[in-house]
Amino acid sequence: MVVIDGKKIASGIQEDTKKEIEELKAKYHQSPCLATVVTGADDPTKVYVKKRGKMCEEIGIISKMHSLPEDTKEKDVLELIGKLNNDEKIHGIIVQLPLPKHIDKRKISEAVSPEKDVDCLNPLNIGRLASGDETFAPCTPKAVITILGKSGIEIRGKEVVIVGRSRIVGRPLALMLINRDATVTVCHTKTKNLEGHTKNADILIAAAGSPNLIKENMVKENAVVVDVGINVVNNKIVGDVDFENVKNKASFITPVPGGVGPVTVAMLMKSTVEAFKQQVVRE
Ligand code: NDP
Repeated sequence: MVVIDGKKIASGIQEDTKKEIEELKAKYHQSPCLATVVTGADDPTKVYVKKRGKMCEEIGIISKMHSLPEDTKEKDVLELIGKLNNDEKIHGIIVQLPLPKHIDKRKISEAVSPEKDVDCLNPLNIGRLASGDETFAPCTPKAVITILGKSGIEIRGKEVVIVGRSRIVGRPLALMLINRDATVTVCHTKTKNLEGHTKNADILIAAAGSPNLIKENMVKENAVVVDVGINVVNNKIVGDVDFENVKNKASFITPVPGGVGPVTVAMLMKSTVEAFKQQVVRE
């Protein structure tokens, strides 16, 4: 059994991205810039977003943080996004989810310019993803695909089961896996007999946000298990998988923390550089 080291994978990607940024900076005298819009988030989210911004700065991406209070009006968030869309110095925009209830997520998602949409919020980009163009695939599904690739795990022809069908993780990940010739099953809270599905998986991806959901008896012998979940239990961060017991059965498994999380951040950096290149590099 191999415990996949997400931190190591992430640091390799960050090193490569840093080098690429240095080269781009020397040639175009500009740095990629990522703007983050946070509206009324809880404290752990604010800390995470700040840390992510700092990590971006460390590899040469300018990070602009826009922290808005919980009661900010929808029109003001839209106005800010409009300004960021029109600002040539901003190359990537990420709107931190979830948004407060009085703000229409769909309107906000549609407002982010598709060219700057580094986490695939805009429906146009998810449509592109469905048709096989992954330029602006969302960062977490990208991280899962990267982890599988860097670990030498073949996707083509495999039975992949994803637990979770969210707009930002399960759904786009299913599309990306189909693009890579996997046979994909997507489970959710209305799935009957979850275990009946998970037990068939060559690659099982848990993205439900439910601690200990995936137990040993739900996993096939030698399956690859990727845990996207982030849950806080007794002040500790845990995933969706009962790691201690499932690891004995898996051929590869990602831990939480230290698995998908760090690679997701590395993917955000990479996508910001891609957006920069599309907007600035015209050759
Ligand atoms: P959502 O809450 O938006 O979606 C959760 C999905 O899981 C839903 O489709 C839901 O089904 C399904 N689900 C929940 N509980 C069960 C269950 N008991 N059985 C079957 N299906 C279930 O969450 P996200 O997709 O945004 O995030 C999922 C997890 O991944 C969270 O823990 C989140 O913190 C984490 N995450 C981690 C990231 C990382 O970088 N590592 C990045 C983004 C998220 P239904 O649709 O029927 O409600």
